[in-house]
Amino acid sequence: MKQTSIDQVDAREYDAIIAGAGAGGLLTALGLSARGKRVLIIEKGNHIGGVWYGYNVDGYRVDQGLHIITRVKRGAFAEFMRNHLNPPPEFVLHEGWFFQVHDKVGTIPSSIGETLRWPLTGPRGRLGLARIGAKIKTMKLEEMKQYKDITFLEFMQSKGATNQVILDVMQSAIYMAAGVGIDEASAYEALRTLKDTDKESSKIDSAKRLLFGSDEYDEGYVIGGMKGLLERVQESIAGDFILETPVDNIIEEKGRVAGLKAGGVTLEHDLIVSNIPLWSMPDIVPETHREAKQFFDRWSTMKHTRGVTIWWGLDEVVIGDRKSRVIVYPEPNTWLISLSSFDPSCAPEDKELLGAATILPEGFTTEEIVELVKKNGIAKYHPEILQHIEMEHIQTSYATRAALIPGQTDLDRPGPKTPIDGLYIVGTDTAGSGVGLQQAANSAQGVLEVLLDN
Ligand SMILES: Cc1cc2nc3c(=O)[nH]c(=O)nc-3n(C[C@H](O)[C@H](O)[C@H](O)COP(=O)(O)OP(=O)(O)OC[C@H]3O[C@@H](n4cnc5c(N)ncnc54)[C@H](O)[C@@H]3O)c2cc1C
Repeated sequence: MKQTSIDQVDAREYDAIIAGAGAGGLLTALGLSARGKRVLIIEKGNHIGGVWYGYNVDGYRVDQGLHIITRVKRGAFAEFMRNHLNPPPEFVLHEGWFFQVHDKVGTIPSSIGETLRWPLTGPRGRLGLARIGAKIKTMKLEEMKQYKDITFLEFMQSKGATNQVILDVMQSAIYMAAGVGIDEASAYEALRTLKDTDKESSKIDSAKRLLFGSDEYDEGYVIGGMKGLLERVQESIAGDFILETPVDNIIEEKGRVAGLKAGGVTLEHDLIVSNIPLWSMPDIVPETHREAKQFFDRWSTMKHTRGVTIWWGLDEVVIGDRKSRVIVYPEPNTWLISLSSFDPSCAPEDKELLGAATILPEGFTTEEIVELVKKNGIAKYHPEILQHIEMEHIQTSYATRAALIPGQTDLDRPGPKTPIDGLYIVGTDTAGSGVGLQQAANSAQGVLEVLLDN
């Protein structure tokens, strides 16, 4: 697709208008293009991708946030990539999660055998973990749903799983997936993440996995980074895009969408897919349509979370492996990855690009959190990093548009339809299942299914 401007377009040339060029909007556009449709994408910001993009800083290629993509072999995102990008992008798998709790390091055990050798607690803690681990691994999705309105901490307490180290490790893992800690995350979403499946396996498969663990690793980083991936997505979309032009109003006539206003121009169209965060929609939909107003008021209260990512370019390779390290103690919880170990092209030769991510809690400034990350975990466990920094780049952004809290789980989302015919919504707060790009892909798949049905 190519860039154009709002005063040059003729809306009749397009089969659909997509408002917002985030992952949800772009994946919808990709799916429509594959079915022979042309789209016009109107974006408020100065780049394509929303919070999904990458750029260069002083010879290093960074992403907006640390993007290890979950389920690169299965699931909706993998399907979009496989079906619509030719050749499909190449993902390099990571080597697992390693949790640092004071001076000990352990993974999340994947089998009873591993649990009984877990280095982070004593024998009683291990037995407790084996019990709760077995419960989670064998639990059916239907059973998990009954825990959607309580927090994961309440679930753990109700099962007598109160060992502090276990709770602390869960806290770090759930933070990454749900955007909030275990005292806020919905137990249903946390359980689904920990079980790491949306599809049920046979009893015999569950038992085998429980006893012997699973070698089914499915998280990775893409060669070319988010920048390269987005360029490929952009090339594969049929249509045009407009930047730096916020959509100000959706126009409705007799219950049907009739067009939109953006950059002082009115475009008439009867099919609009909005990727605009739901928190902005009450100002954009027409006041006169009472049902639509109530609908968007209701969904605009989704809780989002803010994250901080620190990028370090090192003048030599210091970490050099593909592990996801989470420093649980000392606080704040910090996720550390060597991106150049996945894709060396993101750093100059013989140098290393590291990313460190944490949540920005209310009451803290970005500078305070960056200082804490350095002073606590990094200075204590990886002091050599601090001696080799030649580039430092800090980002803040909403890491997720909808935290997975009770009342806002994927089961509580509005889905793609709105009370206005012909107006659909897409994005990580509109539909659930999975996190991050998986969630965006699931929401796009939902819109495509409805559109193809019509
Ligand atoms: C720090 C960080 C780390 C992450 N890590 C991972 C990870 O490891 N794995 C993973 O899978 N995912 C990760 N993600 C998440 C993933 O990038 C996002 O969940 C996903 O990109 C969000 O897609 P979305 O469709 O909800 O759109 P958004 O990115 O929210 O896009 C919405 C778009 O609408 C535009 N817009 C808003 N208002 C208007 C308007 N009025 N008119 C026109 N346009 C408008 C916005 O500018 C934006 O471009 C991470 C994200 C961040 C920020």
